[in-house]
Amino acid sequence: MQQKESAPVSASQELHAWEAGGAASAEALTAWVSARLAAHESAIAALLAVKGPRTPANSLRLFDVAIEHLSLAGSQAGVLNSVAADKSVRDQAQLEAQRVAQAASALSLNRAVYEALVAIDLDGASPATRHYVERTLLGYRLAGVDKDQATRDLLQSLNEKATRLSLEFSRNIQEGAKTITATPAELDGLPADYLARHPVGDDGLVTISTDQPDMQPVMTFAASAALRQRMFLAYNTRAYPANRQILLDLLATRQQIATILGFRSWADLATADQMMGSAANARAFLAKLDEACREGARHEFEMVLAFARERQFALEEINITSRGYWYEQFRRSAFDFDSQSVRPYFPYAQVEAGVLETAARLFKIEFRRSTATAWHPAVSVFEVFDGGQHVGRFYLDMHPREGKDKWFSAAPLVTGVRGRALPEAALICNFPAGDENDPGLLQYSDVVTFFHEFGHLMHAIIGGQTEWAGISGFATEGDFVEVPSQMLEEFFRDEKLLQAFAKHYQTGETLPAETIRKMKLAGAFGRADWVRTQLYYTTLSLDLHDQDAANLDPDGTAKQLYQSLLPWTWLDGNRMYASFGHLTGYSSNYYTYAFDKVIALDFFAQFDSNDLLGGATGGRYRKTVLEQGGSKPGRQMVRDFLGRDEEFAAFSRWMNEEFEDGSLKA
Ligand SMILES: [Zn+2]
Repeated sequence: MQQKESAPVSASQELHAWEAGGAASAEALTAWVSARLAAHESAIAALLAVKGPRTPANSLRLFDVAIEHLSLAGSQAGVLNSVAADKSVRDQAQLEAQRVAQAASALSLNRAVYEALVAIDLDGASPATRHYVERTLLGYRLAGVDKDQATRDLLQSLNEKATRLSLEFSRNIQEGAKTITATPAELDGLPADYLARHPVGDDGLVTISTDQPDMQPVMTFAASAALRQRMFLAYNTRAYPANRQILLDLLATRQQIATILGFRSWADLATADQMMGSAANARAFLAKLDEACREGARHEFEMVLAFARERQFALEEINITSRGYWYEQFRRSAFDFDSQSVRPYFPYAQVEAGVLETAARLFKIEFRRSTATAWHPAVSVFEVFDGGQHVGRFYLDMHPREGKDKWFSAAPLVTGVRGRALPEAALICNFPAGDENDPGLLQYSDVVTFFHEFGHLMHAIIGGQTEWAGISGFATEGDFVEVPSQMLEEFFRDEKLLQAFAKHYQTGETLPAETIRKMKLAGAFGRADWVRTQLYYTTLSLDLHDQDAANLDPDGTAKQLYQSLLPWTWLDGNRMYASFGHLTGYSSNYYTYAFDKVIALDFFAQFDSNDLLGGATGGRYRKTVLEQGGSKPGRQMVRDFLGRDEEFAAFSRWMNEEFEDGSLKA
């Protein structure tokens, strides 16, 4: 340890917490974060000490350097909180993330910094620089920088409290794994490789965890309704009861912050600097969404219910725990498509190669395997090249590990700034891993998820060449962030593109065109119902943040909304809100997914469907959207790419595709 401390810190150790030992030791992580925060503070001090007229070069640069250090520390503490092997490091990472959030909150309430930014002369500045300053100043005003000192102190302590509660809420979900047991007979319907991975124990029972690769197949394939119900309840209570009170405290804290800042509700505050603009606009969008999917969803439900009743004569209703199962059975029958049948064409390694190849051709970039160090040996690292030039790096941490976050996400690690830092980002996922006995076969929905997360990754890297850290990569309005990811999802539906990598892992046979046709039709069925499910989550996220927090009843709100929006029967004991992780990050703004889906589908409709990767549209999309990062308002990027505002037409076509095809008219 002593030797380490006296050795000079390399640039690479400065950039990467894990190279400084921060993935293996809590002390090293703290030291690394402290060094970043010290650099952050000295940049702020230098900014305040500038004499004479303020310019982007002498003032905004120092502010941006401060932001660079803050985002470096925040993003890596966040990632290590999700992936570090050692629990003590994860615990420390959570505290460090909290410390960084405190510094960010203090910066957002620092009136001297605000005044320094206001004083910058923007004459002759680029549009991106102007946008950056204007957006930053709006953020300051929304944070309450113009309040008196006592109020700002109170806001700071409320921000800290909200951060702490958010992190606890997420950690409880991450670490709240439960297990259930099943008799071998209850596993009827599950695929052979799943059964092989779940041997019968000495007690004659099979143990199944609530982790995604264990849980999802049970909900989709297990014929036993009792097993599905046990799994559903275990999964949706994995962070309950602890997270119920944490959520109530968090909602009350947010409400208090919004009230001090003069907003009616947190939802109004959280949408004020977004594309959406206000909670009322969000509600207007939800009303449009409701209208767009109502008929289709009713139709889909009736077909699935009629089908299920043919199979189970006495069946009166389909409850929330059986929806996925009956959808799967219906798809098999109506489209002669068994989602199991395509899994052998999607072994993990081939899918990875296929996704990378698609993105490389679409965006005309190149990926090369890297020898750079990551936080765990299971992580693979790639360098990104553009026209032979090194432009970034990404890390793929793709399989479950003890203690690792159980979800699928993309995270920036190093915020790219042109001429200063190359962007780096990671995917944290939980796809089944391959080994000598098990090739790690993915479901086709997994492959779609892979494309989705890779879309985020490309946004971070290609958008990470901007002039300022504060407008790099993901730094668009929060409700534009799911456009690039949902746009890339659509590429999965292209036959040629899919056949390039979907080969049977045993025979090498290419996924047949006829199977792809059926798979696409089967995949398209149920979209209107899926949109209604999104409408449910979205309305829940908005409602929880748009009413008096003192009288909130999350159980009642969740149940009542479900019953008013969806035809499936609710199951009491379902505490889904206690593991609805997006309530921390997106808070009231979960509408982002549906809103961005409308934009993404309109974007995708601009591509030539006969030559997705070949035409000029990919290049135009890259230039007008991805490369911009947060240099422009999202609204402007939509208009630059489409030549107009987004419309619902492509979204509606997408929702009703299986009926339009003519193969499924009821
Ligand atoms: Zn996403």
